[in-house]
Amino acid sequence: MYYSSIIQAIGNTPLVKLNKVTKGIKGTILVKVEYFNPGNSVKDRMALKMVEDAEKAGILKPGGTIIEGTSGNTGMGLALAAIAKGYKCIFTTTDKQSKEKVDVLRALGAEVIICPTNVAPSDPRSYYCVAAKLNKEIPNSFYPNQYDNLSNTAAHYETTGPEIWSQTEGKVTHFAAGVGTGGTMCGVSKFLKEKNSSIKSIGIDTYGSVFKKYKETGVFDENEIFPYGTEGIGEDILPKNVDFSLIDQFIKVTDKDAAVMTRKLAREEGLFVGWSSGSAVYGALEYAREHFTDNDVMVVILPDHGTRYLAKIYNDVWMKDHGYLESRSFATAKDIIA
Ligand code: PMP
Repeated sequence: MYYSSIIQAIGNTPLVKLNKVTKGIKGTILVKVEYFNPGNSVKDRMALKMVEDAEKAGILKPGGTIIEGTSGNTGMGLALAAIAKGYKCIFTTTDKQSKEKVDVLRALGAEVIICPTNVAPSDPRSYYCVAAKLNKEIPNSFYPNQYDNLSNTAAHYETTGPEIWSQTEGKVTHFAAGVGTGGTMCGVSKFLKEKNSSIKSIGIDTYGSVFKKYKETGVFDENEIFPYGTEGIGEDILPKNVDFSLIDQFIKVTDKDAAVMTRKLAREEGLFVGWSSGSAVYGALEYAREHFTDNDVMVVILPDHGTRYLAKIYNDVWMKDHGYLESRSFATAKDIIA
């Protein structure tokens, strides 16, 4: 058996039980390990769907250029789809993103333009505006706009949601995921809630993002917005892919709690995942600790792989510089020799 191209290997990722970090918590916490996708992230699913829907709609034609504002993972998925289908890629991203993510995109032949993080989305220097301008000026270009393109949510409604339903044999009671564009959270939630309306969806947000306050008050509060570290989740805009009616509640997780939990997932569960995976699990466990009984089953999305964060949260010096390093609970060989 073989795939006719790498993009056919997207999806059907494993579901794995957490055993150690869940100590003292009732119920079952399962994680869906999205780094098994060929681009090492959950975003492969929606990238492929956006490209295929654009082809079907006649928006993307042979020899075209895909232009997107991406923090890296969507770019990786789009780059794979572009290679398989013969398109060019230009990506705009912010100077906050890991260098590794940008290097990977360039390795796959994409052009990457780095834009400043701390400017308003409407500022002409923002990565949103630069992508939109390039799309206007480059002939035969396609701007997927992952924030407002509903093919994003549809990808998860068609693949991630059904996989979770069948992998848990319909026993899932709760779903948790970080919310960036909202595609993962809302596509999966829509599918699961149609199957069983009592399933609860918990959106994981960051401090510095508008989502939680907006859900609770209906107010878009600009005072909530400030720079933060966690990559891929939280926003300073309201993307069309976030359908607040599908999200029962939001939990905010700090950069530090997320970073420390990510390292625990690697060391205690063998799950070498990215920073937002720590956010998702930290928030999910906070919820489960408070609400869970023995019969509850939560599925948590782990969006991407740890290699992209080696220079950040997996680097002890970086962690110390940010005041994030947890106390060391074991002696190293070096300590023993000394
Ligand atoms: N984590 C990471 C690392 C991501 O790249 C993304 C995508 N922005 C998310 C979480 C959130 O996924 P979504 O955009 O589907 O809300």
